[in-house]
Amino acid sequence: MSNMLELHDVWKEYRNGGNSVLALRGVSFSMEEPGKMIVVLGPSGSGKTTLLSIIGALDRPSRGQVTLAGQDLTTMNQGQLTKLRCRKVGFVFQTFNLIPNLTALENVMLPMEFAGVDSKDATHRAVGLLEQVRLAHRASHTPGRLSGGEQQRVAIARALANSPELVLADEPTGNLDSSTGEEVVALLRDLVKREGKSLIVVTHDDRLASIADMRIQIRDGQITF
Ligand code: ADP
Repeated sequence: MSNMLELHDVWKEYRNGGNSVLALRGVSFSMEEPGKMIVVLGPSGSGKTTLLSIIGALDRPSRGQVTLAGQDLTTMNQGQLTKLRCRKVGFVFQTFNLIPNLTALENVMLPMEFAGVDSKDATHRAVGLLEQVRLAHRASHTPGRLSGGEQQRVAIARALANSPELVLADEPTGNLDSSTGEEVVALLRDLVKREGKSLIVVTHDDRLASIADMRIQIRDGQITF
């Protein structure tokens, strides 16, 4: 059976006019089985967000191969990548990125609506996910009436809405105080494990590394372990 995720000699070069930045320089690693958490650590500018964007099919590598759930992302066209992103990947961001005029429940339902899930089924799943992040009692609140930690928990429920193989989190604790941040990431890890999914968290917070199954240290676009 193929690996859940496999990166082979991935390079990324950004070109702006005459300037070029090599953000990733020959990155290779694999996640063999589902249900694991990888933490990607490294200083600012080391290539962490670039790596996550490539794994999440938001961007393409300049060179190398990325395989997610048996599908080679580097040979897919934009339409295929968008579909894969919608069904196989869930995203959690530092800034939560909830839609301000939708309730918590509606925010969690949104990815399912995009995927064409029947609204009754979507409501049922969204309520269940809000229960799992202990926010059922806040289902009808808009993000402005929720704390930062609560907003991030809604974002976690949303990331899992379409039952993706992989959840990617970019600095998910960046806008939270340290104890709320640790609590939110532990909840994310437990939920992802319970659902048999995989999780990659990018952070420069060393403390998150202690709860991960695997750590990847990145510096100047290269894995240093
Ligand atoms: P990190 O997430 O570790 O802070 P990034 O992946 O954001 O690192 O950036 C890695 C390098 O690539 C940095 O030197 C950054 O300035 C550069 N970079 C990132 N995105 C772009 C872009 N869109 N255009 C040009 N350079 C970029």
